[in-house]
Amino acid sequence: MPDHAPATAPGDGPDHDVIIVGAGIIGLATARELLARGRRVTLVDPDPAGGASRAAAGMLAPVAEVVWDQAPLYPLMVESGRRYRGFAAAVAAESGRDVGYLANATLVCAGDAADRRHLLELAGLQSRLGMAVQPITAGQARRLEPALGPGCVGAVSLPEDHQVDPRRLCAALLDLLGPRVRRDRVTEVLFDGERAVGVRLAGGAVLHAAEVLLAAGLGTAGIAGVPAAAAAPLRPVHGDVLRLRVPERLRPLLTRTIRGVVHGRPVYLVPRADGTVVLGATSREDDLAGVSAGGVADLLRDARRLVPAVADLEIVEMIARARPGSPDDVPVIGRLGPGLSVSGGYFRHGILLTPLGAALGADAVCGADPDPRFAAAVDPNRFTTRRNRSR
Ligand SMILES: Cc1cc2nc3c(=O)[nH]c(=O)nc-3n(C[C@H](O)[C@H](O)[C@H](O)COP(=O)(O)OP(=O)(O)OC[C@H]3O[C@@H](n4cnc5c(N)ncnc54)[C@H](O)[C@@H]3O)c2cc1C
Repeated sequence: MPDHAPATAPGDGPDHDVIIVGAGIIGLATARELLARGRRVTLVDPDPAGGASRAAAGMLAPVAEVVWDQAPLYPLMVESGRRYRGFAAAVAAESGRDVGYLANATLVCAGDAADRRHLLELAGLQSRLGMAVQPITAGQARRLEPALGPGCVGAVSLPEDHQVDPRRLCAALLDLLGPRVRRDRVTEVLFDGERAVGVRLAGGAVLHAAEVLLAAGLGTAGIAGVPAAAAAPLRPVHGDVLRLRVPERLRPLLTRTIRGVVHGRPVYLVPRADGTVVLGATSREDDLAGVSAGGVADLLRDARRLVPAVADLEIVEMIARARPGSPDDVPVIGRLGPGLSVSGGYFRHGILLTPLGAALGADAVCGADPDPRFAAAVDPNRFTTRRNRSR
């Protein structure tokens, strides 16, 4: 179907049960879920898996990503983390591809005494939320990961924070869905009265569907006809990431994800099975969409403080992408109106939230009752409704 999928003319009736706008990890995983529910799905994307999903490190961090004042996010992260092992195994089995899922613990290291105080305060919150978190000494951390240097002055171990390789996971999903992915850009959502009935593509072709799901990340805002509840709230939060190759003589440099806080700045190193390490990531709300020189300098300096051998690695890639952030950093998932749903705003947790997000997005498309545990937190109308109330 891909590039040759038929473009219907108005009046032909829907060729597709569902059109998904955007084939990032969320669009892809939701398509898989909808296929399992018996829907005919077409995805439209000019650059499948080329957005935020391409830069992501793939940390599955329901515990390390707990920060103050984000209570609505915690249950989503915990539930999605719980589903990950089964989700990754199913995608691997269906596609015959390894998706790089690793269930070993994450270490979070402190770069100085103030960072250690911060880590321990956060560990207290994580513990009170019933999450598994174990403070350890710098010596214990070094016994687990000998590449840690004297710049690590204390650590916590998070046994429930794991990792996946988002590029492998997207490649596996693309393998499964390939014939259903059409490489094109959606310019407009089309309506018949209040009901969404399809989309217009950049070349002018029109696709009709019974349901349209917007999963285009930050691209959603540029599509004509998209209601403000889906488009207006999202902001780009740029992140720089490096990929470094570990020379044979230093392998394995690390055996688990090392996160750190160095002079208040977060940094992480995620080892991959192919002998590379992902070093990330900055969080910039500026207008520089490409890789930031200052950002890269900060990352290398902070990573070296924790793992001195970072200086001996080869840089094989530098990439920047923007995270699609909502005002409260919680995704927007649900129905916007007849025939139209959204699944976006996954900010810095979209890889972790994929299994749950795919299920909630598919529920919205299928008109199922929203899961009461998460419905209010992800309600796409929560920002517009609040604004209207305060007027
Ligand atoms: C540097 C960085 C590191 C990250 N690390 C992690 C991590 O370790 N763990 C974690 O859980 N999350 C992480 N994230 C967050 C995660 O990557 C995102 O939340 C997630 O990828 C969002 O997925 P998505 O499918 O919604 O968006 P995207 O991956 O951005 O996909 C959107 C897709 O829509 C397409 N599109 C856009 N406009 C249109 C249009 N008009 N028509 C058709 N298609 C369109 C794009 O081409 C793109 O393929 C990280 C993000 C960044 C930037």
